[in-house]
Amino acid sequence: MPLTIQQERQRIQQLIELDNQSDQDGSAYYSEYLAYVREHLTAFYQKYADENGLTLSQAATRISKWDLAEWKQALSGLGDISSWPQEAVNRVKEQTYAAGIDKGHLLGAILILGIIALTVRQQRHIASRVNTDGKYEVKRMLQAFKLTSKQKKRVTSIITQPETRKIWSRNLWVDSDKLAGDVQFLVNRHLKHGMSLNDLTSILDEHANMSQFKPSQSVADRIKQMEFNTRRIVRTESARLIDEVNMTTYQMNGVKEVDWITEPGACIKCQAIAGDSPYSLDEAPLIPRDTHPNCRCIKMPHLSVMDKRQLAAKTLGLTAEEQAGLLRWVSGDSYKLNSALYSSQKPTGLLKTTMDELDTGLAKLPKFEGELWRSVELSGKELSNYLWKFEPGSNYVPSEYLAFTKASSLYNGNAKVQIVIKHATSGRNLGAFNLSEGEVLYERGSNFKVADTYMDDANRFIIELEDH
Ligand SMILES: [Zn+2]
Ligand SMILES: [Zn+2]
Repeated sequence: MPLTIQQERQRIQQLIELDNQSDQDGSAYYSEYLAYVREHLTAFYQKYADENGLTLSQAATRISKWDLAEWKQALSGLGDISSWPQEAVNRVKEQTYAAGIDKGHLLGAILILGIIALTVRQQRHIASRVNTDGKYEVKRMLQAFKLTSKQKKRVTSIITQPETRKIWSRNLWVDSDKLAGDVQFLVNRHLKHGMSLNDLTSILDEHANMSQFKPSQSVADRIKQMEFNTRRIVRTESARLIDEVNMTTYQMNGVKEVDWITEPGACIKCQAIAGDSPYSLDEAPLIPRDTHPNCRCIKMPHLSVMDKRQLAAKTLGLTAEEQAGLLRWVSGDSYKLNSALYSSQKPTGLLKTTMDELDTGLAKLPKFEGELWRSVELSGKELSNYLWKFEPGSNYVPSEYLAFTKASSLYNGNAKVQIVIKHATSGRNLGAFNLSEGEVLYERGSNFKVADTYMDDANRFIIELEDH
């Protein structure tokens, strides 16, 4: 069963929801860290502040028993670190050394311990998210393509390859070190002048409003910045892996071309990329390399109109005969069939077959909701005869099929007579079967109510119908 555009859109939606969940988890981690900073800074303040607040000269004194107890408490708060990655353990060792220098360094080391723990949590979260997304994508590919066990092994190996993880992981630690340095710098800057209770509050002040966002002054904002970085890594790495799983699967299965499916609210760049679809597999842009971080677009094997029609027929449950009837309608039989019905003749032969197929086929198409227009090209006697049928308040029941054009599509607005249905609900949407995208067809004998008739500013005769 090939992949459908609908499935791809659903997949994008699913990933966006997972991203939002990750954001929430991430925010919780960062809030916890902020509370941790607050707790330790307050403890130091209460223990050591004098009339000048907490100062650098106090910070430069040797560590006391109380300090050591604080340090040990922070250390044991990390829990079991034996399963931590080496880069984290190394950093804890470094901080243990720094903590022995003096009070100021010990305070800094405590704050950094929290950042190390935070980074480990984020690293695990990202790894698990990316892994889950990759595995699910492999499953999706397995369902869409009949992969041999060798091929399956190859796609699965993409998820477990350590190379990709190495890069984002290293970047995450670089970010983390930078955050640690900045937090320490911010605290030291206040210690220089004597940290007051007010300073303590302003250091921890969060600015939700972007215009007041001050990562160079507020620890809270600086942490938020790191939170945004992490969000970006989650999305980007998940998208990178999914793209690789997809491309590898397509290559192995001889997919020649791919279509670009944009995420909801896609940027101009991605919309332009999608506009140039389909791409030959070798030339298809890669995500995120050729797009940007946070890109949630996706690529799927190109569907020809025939493919799309086949998929739609299957979903709608259209028989081969019904499909043929619908195709014959759009390819020209409409005129002959309708004029027979209009003049109350009984269609025979192929025309009758088309009519029967169309009747059952149309009933399977979804109903269109929205505004519809129909232009009528009549003049003279024919026109006046025609207009007599539309008495406001009366019913209009044409014996033929009635075709309308969606207001969103181009239609002939110049015709003298225009029929409009402002809130259509019961016409059949031919676009659902990938046929004349803008056309909505009413079954023969449909019942309309004439709501109003009038001349508009352009001297056109407007007939307003209701279809319910
Ligand atoms: Zn984009
Ligand atoms: Zn995109």
